[in-house]
Amino acid sequence: MFKKILIANRGEIACRVIRTARRLGIKTVAVYSDADSRALHVALADEAYEIGPAPARESYLDAQAILTAARRSRAEAIHPGYGFLSENAAFAAGCVKAGLAFIGPQAAAIRAMGNKAAAKALAERAGVPVVPGYRGDRQHVAIFAAEAARIGYPLLVKATAGGGGRGTRVVERPNELGAALESARREATAAFGDSRLILEKYLRAPRHIEVQVFGDRRGNLVHLYARDCSSQRRYQKVLEEAPPAALAPALLSNLHEAALKVAHAVKYQNAGTVEFIVERGRFYFIEMNTRLQVEHAVTEMITGIDLVEWQLRVAAGEALPLKQAQIRARGHAIEVRLYAEDPARGFMPSTGRLARLRFPPADTHLRIETGLRQGDAVTEFYDPMAAKVVAWAKDRHGARRRLRAALVETRILGVDSNRDFLLRLIEQPAFRRGSVDTAFIGRHLEALALPAPAPEPALAAAALSRIVAAPPKPAADRFSPWRLRDGWRPSGESVLDFAFDDRGTKRRVRMRFARAGLQLEFGRRCLPALAWALGAGDLAVELGGRHVETSVAWGDRAVQVALADGTWRLGVVETAIRHADTASAASQVVAPMPGKIAAVHVAKGASVTRGQVLLVLEAMKMEHAIAAPSDGVVAEIRYAAGDPVAEGAELMVLAGAKEAT
Ligand code: ADP
Repeated sequence: MFKKILIANRGEIACRVIRTARRLGIKTVAVYSDADSRALHVALADEAYEIGPAPARESYLDAQAILTAARRSRAEAIHPGYGFLSENAAFAAGCVKAGLAFIGPQAAAIRAMGNKAAAKALAERAGVPVVPGYRGDRQHVAIFAAEAARIGYPLLVKATAGGGGRGTRVVERPNELGAALESARREATAAFGDSRLILEKYLRAPRHIEVQVFGDRRGNLVHLYARDCSSQRRYQKVLEEAPPAALAPALLSNLHEAALKVAHAVKYQNAGTVEFIVERGRFYFIEMNTRLQVEHAVTEMITGIDLVEWQLRVAAGEALPLKQAQIRARGHAIEVRLYAEDPARGFMPSTGRLARLRFPPADTHLRIETGLRQGDAVTEFYDPMAAKVVAWAKDRHGARRRLRAALVETRILGVDSNRDFLLRLIEQPAFRRGSVDTAFIGRHLEALALPAPAPEPALAAAALSRIVAAPPKPAADRFSPWRLRDGWRPSGESVLDFAFDDRGTKRRVRMRFARAGLQLEFGRRCLPALAWALGAGDLAVELGGRHVETSVAWGDRAVQVALADGTWRLGVVETAIRHADTASAASQVVAPMPGKIAAVHVAKGASVTRGQVLLVLEAMKMEHAIAAPSDGVVAEIRYAAGDPVAEGAELMVLAGAKEAT
């Protein structure tokens, strides 16, 4: 077995490979771009080498830089992970040439499967059905038009060198073909440097079923059962499970056999996946991925096999640890991909610092795979997948329940995420029944992607966090008039008004510090409220006697609030502090929270009227207008613009308060 390996990847897959290697007593070498010097995979590895600037093209895709790091570290083998160079035949060959083992298939197998047209021809020769289509070398529009007429519409245009759905277009009618070919060609050239296209009959609602295969250098080849990856958005997998639900056992075993036929045809070594689409009891080969896949974890959970361990053993020349008959599948596993993206805005990737990242504790039935920690940044340079959450149980229903429980506890703030989308997906009746096809998410997109209006507890948490979440100052805090457990203020009743923008709707919350305690008003509804910080941005809120655990993260003029079943990003339209009345303390103008004076709007000696803005306090990146609690004359101004102020500090003294006229 190897003594030291280099992982030519980043994020969760790099971390995952490091953990297995470490368990086997193998030393690990990480590589990283400038953007990743403080990343988790670098911290976990025994050694780490910088390989270039943030853009992947100049670092994680730079084969030479990676081989240099391998030489410097004296690693014996390279694990490519997935993405980046994992399906690059030249890189695999380059490793071998440099005297390193490539922890993956032979370069020839990668090459044979890297071209969709050639791969399909190969599958066909092996006696495996493929989708009817055109995969010829002649790429003229007129040829495509004639072939399209033969195949029939609707059809699919795909990039021959494709991957990740790029270059894929659905064509419903002949008059759309020209434009589709043109844009697919453009995308294919940009993404793969190869403009060639193929045509395929488009199946409207197939299931995506794939089979995990494994080969060693001694000619042994086994399958590790199938995965169902039909939950897709725009041909990209979102959720994967094993085994596929409600699929006839005979069909499944035919798929296993077909996958092995394809793998045998290229004498496949190491981990690979043979992908099929299945419709009305018939299946068709679509491609083979010559690497470990993101969704390999569901296979690991049902078989109890560590696929990365097998990859290492096979690459080191060992035989497959188990024979086909010894490989058993038990129970059901479901994986979801947690992305930093905003489903409500077309799933646009979201970047930023992770103000909050919280997962439930992992155990034997729940895996959390991530390369991120709270405080880390999600940048625009790499894939926005933040984590995979994988749950196992004896049956599908149990796995779904366990996954739901895990997602409910998951918090990801500072960036947008698809957590709520995933929660809604696994709650969909059709998904619960197990009858999901690849068009399912598209059909239900609106219901799955759009958040409900922010509920009152979310608005309450946003407002309350302004005063509760500030770090406590032990001595002063004991007497702070803003301690919320009683809400009492020496100046009598005062209110703090908030207006939040909830996706275009203005939502007002008034916080009233009454003698009877703290109250929150939502329009005419008035509810007693309590709040206390739980640390790390989590906030317990009790609203109208109901307890809710929340996480809150403030950004620039916006606040994100997560509850168990939803996350909302609220724009902060305005906040205002008003001291409503009472003669007793009418002259007090105090800072409700620590901050900095942004502006002073009045001069000493000025007459002011109740409600007039006296100064503006900047706290927690927000501006707060501080208004006169009563009519009066400004007797003293204690702070100037730019001055820091402590919570409870008297900012201004109003004297000679006149009777309001
Ligand atoms: P890529 O390599 O770009 O990921 P694939 O060929 O693997 O492309 O296909 C990705 C997804 O596209 C499949 O999982 C399936 O949902 C869909 N798909 C592919 N071929 C067809 C087809 N002929 N008809 C309908 N859907 C298809």
